[in-house]
Amino acid sequence: MKKISIIIPAYNEEESLPMLYDRLEKLMSSMQNYEFEILFVNDGSKDKTIQLIKEYREKDNRICYVDFSRNFGKEIAMIAGLDYATGDCVIFMDADLQDPPELIPELVKYWEEGYDDVYAKRKSRAGETWLKKFTSKMYYKVLQSLTNVPIQKDTGDFRLLDKRCVNALRKMRETQRCSKSMFSWIGYNKKEVLYDRDPRVAGKTKWNYKKLIDLAIDGITSFTTSPLRISTYLAIPTFLALFIYFIYVICKMILVTHKIDAYQAIILLILFFSGIQILLFGIIGEYLGRIFNETKNRPLYLVNEYNGKREENE
Ligand code: UDP
Ligand code: MG
Repeated sequence: MKKISIIIPAYNEEESLPMLYDRLEKLMSSMQNYEFEILFVNDGSKDKTIQLIKEYREKDNRICYVDFSRNFGKEIAMIAGLDYATGDCVIFMDADLQDPPELIPELVKYWEEGYDDVYAKRKSRAGETWLKKFTSKMYYKVLQSLTNVPIQKDTGDFRLLDKRCVNALRKMRETQRCSKSMFSWIGYNKKEVLYDRDPRVAGKTKWNYKKLIDLAIDGITSFTTSPLRISTYLAIPTFLALFIYFIYVICKMILVTHKIDAYQAIILLILFFSGIQILLFGIIGEYLGRIFNETKNRPLYLVNEYNGKREENE
């Protein structure tokens, strides 16, 4: 019997969990010919999330959990899920039921047909603000314009991945993670499934605009070094302008005025070049920061316990 691992990152989700468990239980009993593992990654929740998960595990050993030592963020929770999943395929799902579990049989159907990465694409997004939809659309546009790897539009993390995608993703240990671009990067046979994204069943969203902007910057810089090329593009016309202006000033001095009206020219030039330098330093700093983070070579996350067993850090 094939085993399906459903990975669910959860951060302060005590209100959604009972409904989630109900819907998952119905789903599992409707798919009798598969074995299931529901792997919660408790991302340092401050409410009763982990207690609830442990209660579920007591009565149902298909429930597994990885309990983080603190909040590490959803991206890290996802890689931890991949590390601990034991199934022949994994399915990522949010704990707030925005991704309907009822779509899972369809994802599995395509997996059985031989697709490795079956991703659910949103037809609609109920319960999300106009601004959030607009910003996420712009983000995809920018990300796509910077790279040759095709990025799937309007897809969240709700998707099914075959074992070999899981193995590929496990090898990608970078600290600043952007799963979306990683899913594109690994390639393999992809299949799109359309669905309507529901509003959150309970609780509040954990996102705010600062987190989203951070994610966007991480996504772009971890995926491509083309922002570094901005410096080249800016520098070429700047030096050209400098060269022409220099010739012009010299010629004018020799032929017409015999002196340079330097004061304004110098101020303008200083402003101009210091502006560009600041911009470039900013970009270089971005990448330096990333190199710094990677070279530290820290583990991506620390686990407090796995299925009730205390993890020792060797
Ligand atoms: N989440 C997490 N760690 C965090 C923030 C969120 O594991 O630091 C989980 C959260 O519990 C949920 C999923 O990520 O299962 C999506 O979060 P949310 O619904 O808040 O995001 P949105 O759907 O609004 O983008
Ligand atoms: Mg949500």
